[in-house]
Amino acid sequence: MESLQLRQREYLLQISRAMTAQLDLPSLLRLILNAAVEMLGGEVGMIVLRQADGRLAPQAVYGIPKSRLARLAPLLAEMAPLAESRWALPEVSLPLFSRAVGVPLRQVVHLPLHIGDESLGAIYVFRSGGAAFGANERQVLQSFADQAAIAVRNARLYEEVVTEKRQLDAIIENSAHGVLILTPDRRIQVINRALSAMTGWPAEEATGQPCWKVLALEHPPNQPDPCAADGLDVELPPGRSITVEGELTRPGGSRLTLRATYTPLYDDDGVLQHIIVNVVDITRFREAERMKSTFISVISHELKTPVALIKGYASTLRRADATWDPETLRDGLAVIEEEADRLNALIDNLLDASRIQAGALKLEMGDVDLPRLAQKVVQGFSTQTDIHRFELDFPADLPPVLGDETRLRQVLDNLVSNAIKYSPNGGVVRIGAWADGNEVTVYVADQGIGIPLDEQGRIFESFYRVDSGLRRQTKGTGLGLYLCKAIVEAHRGHIWVRSEPGKGSTFFFTLPVAGRRE
Ligand code: ADP
Repeated sequence: MESLQLRQREYLLQISRAMTAQLDLPSLLRLILNAAVEMLGGEVGMIVLRQADGRLAPQAVYGIPKSRLARLAPLLAEMAPLAESRWALPEVSLPLFSRAVGVPLRQVVHLPLHIGDESLGAIYVFRSGGAAFGANERQVLQSFADQAAIAVRNARLYEEVVTEKRQLDAIIENSAHGVLILTPDRRIQVINRALSAMTGWPAEEATGQPCWKVLALEHPPNQPDPCAADGLDVELPPGRSITVEGELTRPGGSRLTLRATYTPLYDDDGVLQHIIVNVVDITRFREAERMKSTFISVISHELKTPVALIKGYASTLRRADATWDPETLRDGLAVIEEEADRLNALIDNLLDASRIQAGALKLEMGDVDLPRLAQKVVQGFSTQTDIHRFELDFPADLPPVLGDETRLRQVLDNLVSNAIKYSPNGGVVRIGAWADGNEVTVYVADQGIGIPLDEQGRIFESFYRVDSGLRRQTKGTGLGLYLCKAIVEAHRGHIWVRSEPGKGSTFFFTLPVAGRRE
């Protein structure tokens, strides 16, 4: 008896050591089962565990040939319904079991594995002969059943933690917003994909860096920023977040406007554990706001000028106390008509711009004779200026292009009107084209003020106007080139500019040659 207890203790010790060494669950269960079978002088044993679908599946077997395992499944499936109540122990029929495993068995002892009121499965030990299992043996088995239950429980908890961590990692990694997890001394512990993309810092390089290196937002001073170089002084009291907005310059030089929210995580003892940083790219939002306010100021200015002129002339002309000679009357009415036309053109441009933004620019395609179109455009403008000379430069064999004539006229009108507007000292405005394969390239060149290189990329944006002295004197909404670009691109062409400040600008755009549709 003494030695039995000693052996049992030894086994249990061995099992708890294996548990602390975090042996995997199948090996642990095998160890426990072997010990139990040996202690009880059994020949066959098994530990079955309840699966998520309620079925029982053997997790460890002893004395059952591998080739017989498949025969156990139907037997276990039949046992499962008996174990519906959480406490009922799955009974096993000895004759059926003996036949399945190919060993004649006479005695069985089994005990449930449970933790609290959760039943996890059962452990079975079988003997082919000898006396029935007694209360003592049951007790011995109980200690192994308890160990097995703890092992299963630990493994499940561990699995849950691992699964949860994996899910959490996946959520953080794939979040559309940028996420950083910082240590209390503001170093980067975790950086997700979105933030790597925003900042241009690969995760492996960013990890461990102080946060100010990676998320160096430029913003007005005095804004408390936990990620600034002196950010350690910024306090993050429990339960509060700090939001910082600023601009970030990326490796290529492009800039983003970001909004970062810092939330501290404290433990139960009030010690700062981590800082979670959520970063949203608000560049487009800010851009839209900027456009809206530019839109309002440009439009109100551009609308007000003609309306004021119309109103001024109209009220002057209708004064009851004055009579006007026919010439004054005609001149006044001419101004009213001109300004009404300007208003009309502006409204058309606005409508076109909003159509383009809604993706609803429709083209009526046909063959367009560019030299004839350019001739018409030049005729329209030649009466408006004395200081500009127009030249046309089209080869005689230029093929017609495929396009929407009205829209293409709009492009040329805009380019020629700009060429005049931005050449206040006059000069030559040359319109020409050449064909190259399936493409015709059209150009409008002037000898005007030109466009600085760093502005050349932006002039095609809506409402964008170069901030020159002339800008304040010339009328314009910054919509002209935006519309040109949209129309040219709707023709599957592209538009660009070559310009040198003080010397002049040449705008180029391409169009497909007619009759060679793709
Ligand atoms: P708008 O002429 O109404 O201001 P555009 O979209 O047509 O708007 O042009 C945008 C800006 O590009 C203009 O404000 C001007 O600064 C610049 N620009 C356009 N065409 C020329 C040109 N031919 N020469 C110099 N600057 C030009």
